[in-house]
Amino acid sequence: MELGRGHMEASVACEVESGNLRFPVYKLTLGNPDPTLPAIGFFGGIHGLERIGTHVLLYFLRGLISRLAWDKSLHHLLQDVRLVFMPLINPGGMWQSTRSNLRGVDLMRNAPIEAEGRVPFLLGGHRISPHLPWYRGVAGAEMEIENQALCRTVQDELLTRSFSIAVDCHSGFGLRDRVWFPHAHTVHPIQHLADIVSLEELFKETYPTNRYLFEPQSLHYRTHGDIWDYLYLQAEQDKKKTFLPLTLEMGSWLWVKKNPRQLFSRHGVFNPIVEHRLHRVLRRHAVWLDFLMRAAAGHDNWQLQGPSRLRMQERAVARWYRT
Ligand SMILES: [Zn+2]
Repeated sequence: MELGRGHMEASVACEVESGNLRFPVYKLTLGNPDPTLPAIGFFGGIHGLERIGTHVLLYFLRGLISRLAWDKSLHHLLQDVRLVFMPLINPGGMWQSTRSNLRGVDLMRNAPIEAEGRVPFLLGGHRISPHLPWYRGVAGAEMEIENQALCRTVQDELLTRSFSIAVDCHSGFGLRDRVWFPHAHTVHPIQHLADIVSLEELFKETYPTNRYLFEPQSLHYRTHGDIWDYLYLQAEQDKKKTFLPLTLEMGSWLWVKKNPRQLFSRHGVFNPIVEHRLHRVLRRHAVWLDFLMRAAAGHDNWQLQGPSRLRMQERAVARWYRT
């Protein structure tokens, strides 16, 4: 934030308290605030154990800020797009080394939205006890303050625009790096599937050696209370708007496989520990974030319209939703 002075506005979206400790949840904005322009939001640290997501965002942000001292092309780009960062949404969880926040609530199970059909026991979200993982919070209660701050930020900075992307950084699932998109609460496809596939193809053309597995989250398991489903459904009310919430799931099992000693550390299961691996992870995903920023700024040039959009949507439905 010190480095970004003059280029970036910083504010406290909410404050989490524990005894005498106070943890600010920061919101950082750069670029052109004009609401007619596209925007992209970068989010991380929703799960306190998944530190690597926050690291990746701060690494990328530091790079942007350093370049603003000399890079004219970046200044031009930021005339066309708004950037919002919330790199650490659950600082209390990160401080106490838990997935949940300080009140034992999993922020990715806490939104007021119910899954259709059966969800996996506990993992899908439950209201049994905050001492068990994936706890949703008390039925009918307001969302946790971290989620309220996240929703306000998305509503104010992204959903006000005709085009926006959100990318939320997580780790811990599988051997591969994945990009998950809604829905999580139902097996039905979203209206903007065509845009997701266009974005995927654009990325593959631009960076053929970088591999992400694109999938709807519901392909793996359905959950209650997904915050991105909740926000997507709000955005969807206005048919003229496009809001694409993506979740980057960095595959941590590979880090563990290559260095099995990590299994014995709580952080080791979710984060790269060996230094060269950490550096590689930071570099690789910074490329993806940079791509998304540029894709948001230039969305007019790749978003399909009319019949080609319909064909793309049908292809995508066939790929993920017909078994
Ligand atoms: Zn996570």
